[in-house]
Amino acid sequence: MIARIALRRAGSAKARMESVVEQLALPDDWTDDDFVRAVEAARERTMLLLPLPSTAAVGLCGVWFATESADVVFHRPAFDPAIRRNTIGHECWHVLCNHGSDTKLTPDELATLLTGIDLAEHGLDIGEFRAARGLTDYDDPEEYEAEMFATMIATRATPLAARKRDRLLRAF
Ligand SMILES: [Zn+2]
Repeated sequence: MIARIALRRAGSAKARMESVVEQLALPDDWTDDDFVRAVEAARERTMLLLPLPSTAAVGLCGVWFATESADVVFHRPAFDPAIRRNTIGHECWHVLCNHGSDTKLTPDELATLLTGIDLAEHGLDIGEFRAARGLTDYDDPEEYEAEMFATMIATRATPLAARKRDRLLRAF
C-alpha cells in the first residue's frame, strides 16, 4: 500500500501523475537514486534495483517483483542513462499504483528470469515473490500509464538539469 502518497482517482491520467510527482518532492536535478529513495519512502518498503540477468527474454526491459517486505525492480543494464531512467520510471509507476501481477509470467518463466541472480545475497527468497509485472503490452491501460509516467519523469528531469546548466553558465 502507498503509505505517504495520496493517489487521486479522479482527473486525467496526466493530472494524477503530476500530483504523484509533486508528492515525491524530488530535489532539483535529482538522480535515479533520489527517485528510487523517494518511491521507497512513499511506500515505506525497501526497494532494490537489480540488473536483469543476460538470460532474460529479449525485449524485456524491466520487471517489478513485490515480495512481502520489499519491491524489487530489475532493469536491463543500459549504457544509455535515459533508457535506464525510463525503465525505472515505468516500473515505479506500477509500484506506486500497487498494480497487481500481470498474468503473463508463469512460475517457470519466473524461475528462468531469476536464474543467475543470487537472491540470498539480497535477502530474497523465491517463495516470497507475490506479484510480478514485466512483459509490456500497450493494450493494457496500466502499461500505457506506466509508459506515460516514465516519459513524464524523463522530460521533467531534462529541463531541470538544463536550467541548472544555464544558471551555471550565466554565472561565468
Ligand atoms: Zn509495465
